Amino acid sequence: MDVAELNAKYPITKDLAAKKETLWINPDYGKDAQLELSQEDLFDASARFERFAPYMAVAFPETAAAKGILESPLHRLNAMQKHVTAREGYDLPGALYLKADNELPISGSIKSRGGIYEVLKIAEKVAIEHGMLVYGDNYAILNQPEFKELFSHYGIAVGSTGNLGLSIGIVAAKLGFNTTVHMSMDAKQWKKDTLRSKGVNVVEYDGSFTKAITTGRELAAKDPSVFFIDDEGSTDLFLGYGVAAIRLQKQLKDMQIPVDEDHPLFVYLPAGVGGSPGGTTFGLKTIFGKNVHAIFAEPTHVPSVVLGMATGMNDKISVYDIGLDGLTEADGLAVGRPSRLAGRVMKTLLLGIATFDDDRIMKYTAEMMDQEDMKLEPSATAGFAAMRAAQGYLGEHYNMANATHIVWATGGMLVPDYEHERNYKIGEALLNDK
Ligand SMILES: *Cc1c(COP(=O)(O)O)cnc(C)c1O
Repeated sequence: MDVAELNAKYPITKDLAAKKETLWINPDYGKDAQLELSQEDLFDASARFERFAPYMAVAFPETAAAKGILESPLHRLNAMQKHVTAREGYDLPGALYLKADNELPISGSIKSRGGIYEVLKIAEKVAIEHGMLVYGDNYAILNQPEFKELFSHYGIAVGSTGNLGLSIGIVAAKLGFNTTVHMSMDAKQWKKDTLRSKGVNVVEYDGSFTKAITTGRELAAKDPSVFFIDDEGSTDLFLGYGVAAIRLQKQLKDMQIPVDEDHPLFVYLPAGVGGSPGGTTFGLKTIFGKNVHAIFAEPTHVPSVVLGMATGMNDKISVYDIGLDGLTEADGLAVGRPSRLAGRVMKTLLLGIATFDDDRIMKYTAEMMDQEDMKLEPSATAGFAAMRAAQGYLGEHYNMANATHIVWATGGMLVPDYEHERNYKIGEALLNDK
């Protein structure tokens, strides 16, 4: 289909090509569908994280206090709720929270969920196949030298814009795997440096993320001892992200925040390939059902998931096909082609997607430092943009008086201070502009 045909058939593609901020509401939301993943898959992933918790606690001492379970806090955002709604001029009935995956151990990003999960699953499979591990073992034994020796005969490879490579690289290298991360040009230098310091083989590409992941996949396919973790279609990544929902349900209960017909939950998530927000949303819909609603946020220069879902073409179309450049300050979202899996699974589970101008996330990044003293990476603030864009629609369709809003902050803890300062200056200048 050429661009003219595409525009005629799917008018939204005109707005996307023009880089207009757009709110897409999913026409298939809430319809009955046979999902390819189940609640059983989700609980299987959760149980695997628990088997590995004793290993995590010894291999990564920073996780010992939480007994090797990687989880992030849920923070109430009082000051930010007042400030951002006043500045952007809209009402937000209900209460605003931040799911602080920027504080997740190991990668300081949401990728500590999916990326680490898939590495652990591979390690378990290899160790069991070699008769060195059984399910009932205390998995802390995986930290012993004979396992490092075993894993050194295997490779793990991944293509990444940065954070996925960080989470996978750090854990895979610690286990002893020969680890290769194929990095796109958007990846920050400090992420490459961190990985190299841990013994990870970092391969850099001039081209886009799509080029890095495609080349990585081809190289890995030539060597049967290499496991390629495929951000464009891995079910395991997806399920690792999904486990967040089980944990969030407990956090909300502990904080006495109800989720029911009168207290709907709205979750706003940044999307790159759509894997982390898609997996999380799958988990949320599985756990909370009809009283939770998810909305994704994407840069106007890189609206890959909305382009795929609105046209139904999913991974068969990229933002380059409609003439976009794919460039953004949100390096975690700089992915021109969506995952094969996300659009398919999200078809009936996702309420909508909002696109945003980069200026917004630079302002949110500075505001979060000013109002809440929290340091996020720009990608991680994109949920605030989806929240703003959706309120008009939500007010017309849902009972918002007692709503709970969660902006899912996807990364930031490992970002060096010079980088935070740079982002702050840009955001602050934009805020002072008007
Ligand atoms: C990876 C990432 C995302 C988006 O996740 P996808 O699985 O690519 O959709 C959002 N924010 C940050 C900080 C990320 O690293």
